[in-house]
Amino acid sequence: MRQIVLLSGKGGTGKTTITAAFVHLAAKDHRIVIADVDVDASNLDLVLSPEVLETHDFASGVIAQVDPESCISCDICRQVCRFDAIDIIDDVYTVDRIACDGCAACYYQCPVGAISLEEPVVGRWFKSKTRFGPMVHAYLFAGQENSGKLVTLVKQEARLIALDEKRDYVIIDGPPGIGCPVISAVSGAHAALIVVEPTVSGIHDLERALETTEHFRVPSAVAINKFDINEKRAREIEDFCSRNDIPMLGRLPFDTIVTEAMVHRMPVTEYAPDRAISSQIEGLWREIKAFADSVPEEYI
Ligand code: SF4
Ligand code: SF4
Repeated sequence: MRQIVLLSGKGGTGKTTITAAFVHLAAKDHRIVIADVDVDASNLDLVLSPEVLETHDFASGVIAQVDPESCISCDICRQVCRFDAIDIIDDVYTVDRIACDGCAACYYQCPVGAISLEEPVVGRWFKSKTRFGPMVHAYLFAGQENSGKLVTLVKQEARLIALDEKRDYVIIDGPPGIGCPVISAVSGAHAALIVVEPTVSGIHDLERALETTEHFRVPSAVAINKFDINEKRAREIEDFCSRNDIPMLGRLPFDTIVTEAMVHRMPVTEYAPDRAISSQIEGLWREIKAFADSVPEEYI
């Protein structure tokens, strides 16, 4: 089993469009599992239309809660809270769930045990089926943190399905940008495909993504999406990859059929199989598959 993760240094590069097409192409010849770990803005499900089989709460972190029945209004908790998370509202000691850091100082200082610590539900994750194979996906509620932990959970569930059912590939739609969720998405992958656009920030975005993949020793390759919107920038990205020995696996042109396919909730390779962009994405899929297959298992 091989895990292939798609990344981008920033959002909006067409990463999910390419992931959806890879899923469609891979499922023709292989048994796959799909993982959408872009938990802050997941949208692969819009294209793959999964049928949800299981829904699970995702609880993370700790926040304090005051039991007003037991509270004797001694004010100690408010005085010890360094985060100003406890206030008196309508004569009741109340914890601001956003401000609370979960440090537990109030919990230990309360003389009558009126404070408990709870693990709040901050997101949901799902096991689903699609016409291409099983899918694990999730979303984090607005304003919540700890997306790295949820990414790890989704990836782990997808990996377990792949191992249990002896599936060939886990195709992972990673989060854009950098940081904790990207680190979680990348770790343990056999190969990463970084999707970049030929914009002013293209090389900078690519460098940021590479910093993470190189740190975790995940073999990385690059594809330029919409290379023809700025061929000069596209060449600069190619030169950068050439200078740094980073495999450049493909250049995809701009094509309005991609948006049309999304509107019809289909991977572009399924919606318009005879279009040039579809055969180019198919070539890219063959390249990244061969790239992932060539990584020795002991390297991971
Ligand atoms: S757990 Fe810490 S941050 Fe939260 S209310 Fe208590 S003292 Fe304040
Ligand atoms: S420390 Fe306990 S008893 Fe005192 S005000 Fe806070 S919750 Fe109430």
